[in-house]
Amino acid sequence: PESGERRGKAERLFRLMDGFRRNDPVSLQKDILDHVEFTVARSRFNFDDFEAYQALSHSIRDRLIERWHDTQQYFKRKDPKRLYFLSLEFLMGRSLSNSVINLGIRDNCADALNQLGFEFEVVAEQEGDGALGNGGLARLSACQMDSLATMDFPAWGYGLRYQYGLFRQVIFDGFQYEQPDYWLNFGNPWEIERVHVSYAVKFYGNVEEELLNGEKCKVWVPGEMVEAVAYDNPIPGYGTRNTINLRLWAAKPSDQHDMESFNTGDYINAVINRQGAETISSVLYPDDRSYQGKELRLKQQYFFVSASLQDIIRRFKDSHSNFDEFPDKVALQLNDTHPSLAIPEVMRILVDEEHLEWSRAWGIVCKLFSLTSHTVLPEGLEKVPVDLLGSLLPRHLQIIYDINFFFMEDLKKHFGLDYDRLSRMSIVEEGAVKSIRMANLSIVCCHTVNGVSRVHLELLKTRVFKDFYELWPQKFQFKTNGVTQRRWIVVSNPSLCSLISKWLGTEAWIRDVDLLLGLREHAANADLQQEWNMVRRVNKMRLAEYIETMSGIKVSPDAMFDVQTKRIHEYKRQLLNLLGIIHRYDCIKNMNMNERRKVVPRVCIIGGKAAPGYEIAKKIIKLCHAVGEKINNDSDVGDLLKLVFIPDYNVSVAELVIPGSDLSQHISTAGHEPSGTGSMKFLMNGCLLLATADGSTIEIIEEIGEDNMFTFGAKVHEVPALREKGSALTAPLQFARVVRMVRDGYFGFKDYFKSLCDALDGNGDFYLLGHDFGSYLEAQAEADKAFVDREKWTRMSILSTAGSGRFSSDRTIGEYAEKTWGIEPCRCPF
Ligand code: PLP
Repeated sequence: PESGERRGKAERLFRLMDGFRRNDPVSLQKDILDHVEFTVARSRFNFDDFEAYQALSHSIRDRLIERWHDTQQYFKRKDPKRLYFLSLEFLMGRSLSNSVINLGIRDNCADALNQLGFEFEVVAEQEGDGALGNGGLARLSACQMDSLATMDFPAWGYGLRYQYGLFRQVIFDGFQYEQPDYWLNFGNPWEIERVHVSYAVKFYGNVEEELLNGEKCKVWVPGEMVEAVAYDNPIPGYGTRNTINLRLWAAKPSDQHDMESFNTGDYINAVINRQGAETISSVLYPDDRSYQGKELRLKQQYFFVSASLQDIIRRFKDSHSNFDEFPDKVALQLNDTHPSLAIPEVMRILVDEEHLEWSRAWGIVCKLFSLTSHTVLPEGLEKVPVDLLGSLLPRHLQIIYDINFFFMEDLKKHFGLDYDRLSRMSIVEEGAVKSIRMANLSIVCCHTVNGVSRVHLELLKTRVFKDFYELWPQKFQFKTNGVTQRRWIVVSNPSLCSLISKWLGTEAWIRDVDLLLGLREHAANADLQQEWNMVRRVNKMRLAEYIETMSGIKVSPDAMFDVQTKRIHEYKRQLLNLLGIIHRYDCIKNMNMNERRKVVPRVCIIGGKAAPGYEIAKKIIKLCHAVGEKINNDSDVGDLLKLVFIPDYNVSVAELVIPGSDLSQHISTAGHEPSGTGSMKFLMNGCLLLATADGSTIEIIEEIGEDNMFTFGAKVHEVPALREKGSALTAPLQFARVVRMVRDGYFGFKDYFKSLCDALDGNGDFYLLGHDFGSYLEAQAEADKAFVDREKWTRMSILSTAGSGRFSSDRTIGEYAEKTWGIEPCRCPF
């Protein structure tokens, strides 16, 4: 039958059945059993929690697929301008709880499982984390996907399906060890393999010239081909049927890969070489701040960019033939410069394959791309050695040189022969290792360059991209990052979610997060305060239980839970936190019994991974364990102070830790954190912040007021002069004392910690720990004072949640859609 006829038949059947999948508990139960029997291939009379998780996930996946189809067909019919979000990292975490909440069927699923003798929470715990990213940047992509779906935007994400996600951190004898995370070992019910959606990606080879209709044109003759196969991950919106797509590419050997070896008769080696193709998508780079000049990394970048663009252009060409319309239908978002090879790739396709003239192609490309930078220092910008790029992607190097030539000509017209400026702004960096500056390439081509907080934009304008800002001030904007309240309140803190809805009299805040402001008027209400504290206490008990299971350390939920969880970095200053803990310990040790009775008990919790090659970060982890060992076993101290390291911090651990925290620390040296998103999650959960005025914290202070949090430390504009002066003059005596304790081996490992201490000496104290130490201790003392005033603390906690709406990714995405991408919602009507 014709496809129209087929469609009619399917629609009649669909109506007759009232939808393929029903969501009442009995239908869900039937589907679960069906999947136990036929998908998991276990007997429906005998299956365990993990198999129940698999069967439930497949039942939910069926529902997602149905909505995915409806949404995509609707988008196809309406043909709106679409956003494609290109990111090398997505830190999705677990999918089950988030999916059932966004589909609005969590309670029905729990009922269905209950009647089969299972508990939803236990079943949901069976899922591993999808950890295809490092930290903030990657989790941001995931939050933004949730907002894009919920706000009905016609968007897709594109990324890489790494076989090994971010390494597992195991701690042995206080040291970090890395273990591979082969997350696909037990299957992944949340993805749909599209064997028929695959593209050949070319590498190496050389560029030849051919005559086409009397015109010379360039042809890239590749030396290697790898197949990119699509895996789709449906992303359901909340309160809408819209379900968008995250398409991740996996590398597979291509039939045309290295034919030469086959022809020479070395069959076994030829097969083994073919398998090598898969390494392209095998492993995520575990450094979260810089990726310099690695061939595999460059291959990953191009592999993902090439496959995504082939897919995007194929979709565009399904219903359009004129590339001048491309920017009216497509917006391409670069999540940092990692996907910036997309720029020369689109140029190559338009010029070499579609045979558009250079200037016409360039006009199109300049309307397509926008960049979000996550960098604060010029030294952190991505560079690729010319030799490497030229060997892997010979045609792209030529195109980049051509783009640079035209750019330099324009610059000369604008600024004259200012060679210093020309060399700073050039896409090509001369020097011992001639390199391509990916940021310069991106800025030249992107219509918008976004910072991730207001102060970050200032740093981009004055420090990172100063020359470019002077040339194109209109390109530079900021969109302060945000996080999704669906995952960070509704999924991770269900009792707080119910309490908020009860007091606001509506659940509408889950989509319209500004409504949270309505909590402000109840902040001093004694009934709300009591219920609020009950919820928080239960969350703290859950966290205390987890800590005991993980580390054997018993902590009291009466103590203040003071948390710093994030990647370990010198600029994030976990070391400042540790030195503060040592000071607290030292003070307690020197107190008499009477004084000790006045101490506010604390449980200090630190968690985070260090990049495998980042020695100093690894020493900080070891120091945390060494200090913890001393304090936790000191009977003088008892419950007054505990120090716990939570291993393997990831999204699911964050979902447990954040709701159970009283105080959280975001204490980077001012001017180093582009935004920070961890703080926003703590804020949403009513945790008070102890923070420096850095990144988005500056805006958080404005929103919730300085008196609702504890701030300290040098300001962004003060840092350069303080560095000049050196910290030695401004560091208080207590600082020297605690550093000496570490240096003298009070916590053991004297030699191992020596370099940590040396880096804090006088002028070497680059991150200004010494300078900020005094005000840090004062802020901590303020926190102690506030904690014992229950009424005040609870009011501050409620006001934190109430003021967190501005830091929702819904707001961020709304701003991007309007000011950068030019896209409109496209809501699937059925
Ligand atoms: N890692 C995980 C698992 C997270 O959920 C977050 C939260 O945003 C981060 C890292 C980044 O935290 P921060 O912005 O505090 O560095």
